This record gives sequence, C-alpha cells and structure tokens, in this order.
Amino acid sequence: MWLADGALAVVEDIPARICGECLEQYYDEDAADALRVLAESGFPAAEAARVVQVPVFSLQGRIRRRIRLPDDTTFD
Ligand SMILES: [Zn+2]
Repeated sequence: MWLADGALAVVEDIPARICGECLEQYYDEDAADALRVLAESGFPAAEAARVVQVPVFSLQGRIRRRIRLPDDTTFD
C-alpha cells in the first residue's frame, strides 16, 4: 500500500475469504475495518510488526524494442 509520502507499507495476516462462485478473494467487514483504521492512523512506524528492505527495479533503459519504429510513430 503506497502512503501519501511515497513510502510503501505492507500489511500481512489479513484474513481473506474466497467467493464460492467466482473464487475471487475478498476481506470480511471486520478485516476491512481494521485495515481502514490502520490506514487512517497513517501506518505509525512504531506499530510495524517488522521492517523489510525491498529492492526496487526499473525497466527504464532495459526494454529492447524488436523493431525500430520512426520517432513519430503513434499507437492508438
Ligand atoms: Zn464471486
């Protein structure tokens, strides 16, 4: 979950339920409430269960185009 200051917070141990018809996962109301309260409190760092270091990758400069297109090519 991205925070307003651009930081990333991870929430684990969210009990998920699964729809018997379409197998979509969803949270029950109590779990959603707890998540909302945590978000509204701004994810206080002092309450974090643990801190993980996350490597962030970028594809900028790593994408190799298979065909060379003229610079003025547009896609729609
Ligand atoms: Zn469903």
